[in-house]
Amino acid sequence: MVEHQLGSRGVKDERVLRAMARIPRHEFIPEPLQYQAYEDHPVPIGEDQTISQPYIIAYMTELLELKESDRVLEVGTGSGYQAAVLAEIAGALHSIELSETLSRRAGALLGRLGYDGVTLVVGNGYEGYPPAAPYDAIIVTAAPESIPEPLVEQLSDGGRLVIPVGPRNAGQTLYKIVKSGDRLRQYNYGGVVFVPLRQAPAPLR
Ligand code: SAH
Repeated sequence: MVEHQLGSRGVKDERVLRAMARIPRHEFIPEPLQYQAYEDHPVPIGEDQTISQPYIIAYMTELLELKESDRVLEVGTGSGYQAAVLAEIAGALHSIELSETLSRRAGALLGRLGYDGVTLVVGNGYEGYPPAAPYDAIIVTAAPESIPEPLVEQLSDGGRLVIPVGPRNAGQTLYKIVKSGDRLRQYNYGGVVFVPLRQAPAPLR
């Protein structure tokens, strides 16, 4: 997988390649589909969600330009696989997920694999996670229709946000936003396909 799908397509960050060579990706996938774990496409993980294609995970992680001391926020824990990749490379990681079922399952697995530095939160990622902000890097693994303002606000000076944006099946684009002082620079990395970032259900009154 690392050699044929990542290296050959130009992923150069050794830390990303090493992390993805180490992590048992099949463990993050429901058993009947585990035989597809190292294939070049997304795989369903239950609750109508998917674990992204290995290449897109490597590409987005490389775009974050992580340092070992970086504080990172992931929006969309899903299976926990991307969280494991981030935990191998960066410092403190918070990962927020709307589905309690997926978050609980990911937490059990990450604990079993020894990723103790990961804090999972159940909640709406549109709001980011203010208690642990600011973040040096934020990665969003589902697509909102526009960039959520709280995520930009929760970036540190020099912080990077990597996020797919756009409606489902109608041209999502991968962006990187870099904050320096009061300035935001935006880079476009072309077309991608992600599940939508869901609006949280309204709270019961
Ligand atoms: N990073 C995951 C893939 C996630 S798929 C992995 O490595 O497996 C996208 C995830 O985003 C899904 O698990 C979905 O439940 C979650 N999600 C969707 N909308 C959300 C929201 N508003 N806040 C937090 N998580 C959300």
